[in-house]
Amino acid sequence: MTRPHHDNVDHAEIAKFDALASRWWDREGEFKPLHDINPLRLGYIDGHVSLAGKRVIDVGCGGGILSEAMAQRGANVTGIDLGEAPLAVARLHQMESGVEVDYRHISVEALAEEAPASFDVVTCLEMLEHVPDPGSVIRACAKLVKPGGHLFFSTINRNPKAYAFAILGAEYVLGLLPRGTHEYRKFIRPSELSAWCREQGLRLQDQTGLTYNPVTRRYRLTASDVSVNYMVHACPEWQGPATETA
Ligand code: SAH
Repeated sequence: MTRPHHDNVDHAEIAKFDALASRWWDREGEFKPLHDINPLRLGYIDGHVSLAGKRVIDVGCGGGILSEAMAQRGANVTGIDLGEAPLAVARLHQMESGVEVDYRHISVEALAEEAPASFDVVTCLEMLEHVPDPGSVIRACAKLVKPGGHLFFSTINRNPKAYAFAILGAEYVLGLLPRGTHEYRKFIRPSELSAWCREQGLRLQDQTGLTYNPVTRRYRLTASDVSVNYMVHACPEWQGPATETA
């Protein structure tokens, strides 16, 4: 087992995902929301970067729902997570699906030291709200991306509406997610996420909301509504060595 060199990890969070891991690919199970939103987020990412042929790192990949989908679009994907059980499920699933992804049990901070500026695209979806120090994850992601590359983050906003929808609605009323999946105080405002990005020399290119309609039971990308679930696209400001001018 690779020991994370850095302790930006909440072991209770890892245990939560470990316990549910066998259900990861059950489309009607605890991870149904991730399956339901996957085509939307994949379309958003692929629409911005054209995944085919790109070297991608999927941070906090879990059982590999997004990692596999990106590999199916022709990307060369590495998936990392600190949960052993989700990674074991991801490795088993790829044998079944025949989709190739390189899964590794390593922290994003350790990989950033090992392989800086190595990836065209960095994705870190639905993970930042589960770590003690999301700024440290963003710093490591900024280190992993190549000059001229792209980063995608998604998380949940922190305001009364987000509490009502993401916790009361999703966990208690509609039962879309197991109770205790999310903690309100770990939610992240877009202003906080963009400040962490700016501190790392990343510029926000775009943001979009991901909204759920309980009547139709459908999710949509809604550019103007980042009040609950949202996703951002960022790029490094620094695009490579400046060309000397005389
Ligand atoms: N990104 C995937 C899975 C989201 S679930 C998707 O959107 O489909 C959150 C994942 O984050 C879980 O697999 C959990 O094990 C992982 N995780 C939580 N804390 C982590 C940490 N500190 N480092 C790496 N992964 C972490």
